[in-house]
Amino acid sequence: MHDTLPLLEKIAFPPIRRGPLDTLQINVGYRCNQSCVHCHVAASPNRTEEMSGAVIDVVLAFLERRRIATLDITGGAPELNAHFRRLAVAARDMGVRVMDRCNLTILEVPGQEDLASFLAAQQIEIVASMPCYLEDNVDRQRGKGVFDGSIRGLKKLNALGYGRDGSGLVLNLVYNPQGAALPPPQVALEADYKRVLGERYGVVFNGLYTMTNMPIQRFGSMLISKHQFHSYVDLLRHAHRDENLDGVMCRNLISVDWRGYVYDCDFNQMLDLPLAHNGHARPHLADLIADDIAGNPIRVAGHCFGCTAGQGSSCGGALKEAAE
Ligand code: SF4
Ligand code: SF4
Repeated sequence: MHDTLPLLEKIAFPPIRRGPLDTLQINVGYRCNQSCVHCHVAASPNRTEEMSGAVIDVVLAFLERRRIATLDITGGAPELNAHFRRLAVAARDMGVRVMDRCNLTILEVPGQEDLASFLAAQQIEIVASMPCYLEDNVDRQRGKGVFDGSIRGLKKLNALGYGRDGSGLVLNLVYNPQGAALPPPQVALEADYKRVLGERYGVVFNGLYTMTNMPIQRFGSMLISKHQFHSYVDLLRHAHRDENLDGVMCRNLISVDWRGYVYDCDFNQMLDLPLAHNGHARPHLADLIADDIAGNPIRVAGHCFGCTAGQGSSCGGALKEAAE
């Protein structure tokens, strides 16, 4: 795989600093029931990296001590981590909003039959990747049969109240473009998703997050192989909007890997660019429990234009809805 970091580090991005921390995003391991071709952590059923119970305890201590509002749990399939349910219950008991980045097909995996009921009972928000509302496109990206499995998963969640008005059970979907293009306006695409998934499958959900593809990992490597890397980065740079700088997610979030090491965001985690803090080469979450990192500089490079191009992009979708 081509490494895009040497190219990205040569591209200047405006300096930005951290604001108050409100979200802890943690990657609890790379094991997954799927092995999608585009997966940015190369997750698969054979991966063994997993956040340990000891690191989960540090996460819980951090949530409590720093009074973090939101815990965003990613993987792999995060639910396969042996400590997932203990973590989720303890965080919810503290009043933390918990988000599970769920791939939907995990709901059918043997041993996970009660997962949907568990998530609903704990009022855990679900963020589910659904790169298209068309079967062929989803199966091409994520594997044969994944679309049908995802629809069954969505129906199961809807039956529990997820995505339905007044239930308090939030179900959001995530879209990212199939190739080297910016995502379409989020509001218009959300309306299309709601119409098609509703009419064809009777599925409902709350919101759609559109995310820009980052020129890193497998996608970045593919761009280099196809000689599209520079044209894609130019597309992002030309679509940059200064006003998006205030809303980039790294101002209020830190990303933690399965070992407990900390990064400004998930993308920097994938590029192995650790958070800058007090001269630590690689700060661990345990090092930050007593420290306030507001005001620290954020490690930026050319990939950051993926967050500020057009309507902007974050783990919560578009930053602006002006580009409707
Ligand atoms: S479902 Fe998600 S984590 Fe699992 S292989 Fe696919 S993209 Fe990776
Ligand atoms: S890529 Fe990460 S560090 Fe760069 S702007 Fe986006 S969230 Fe911030």
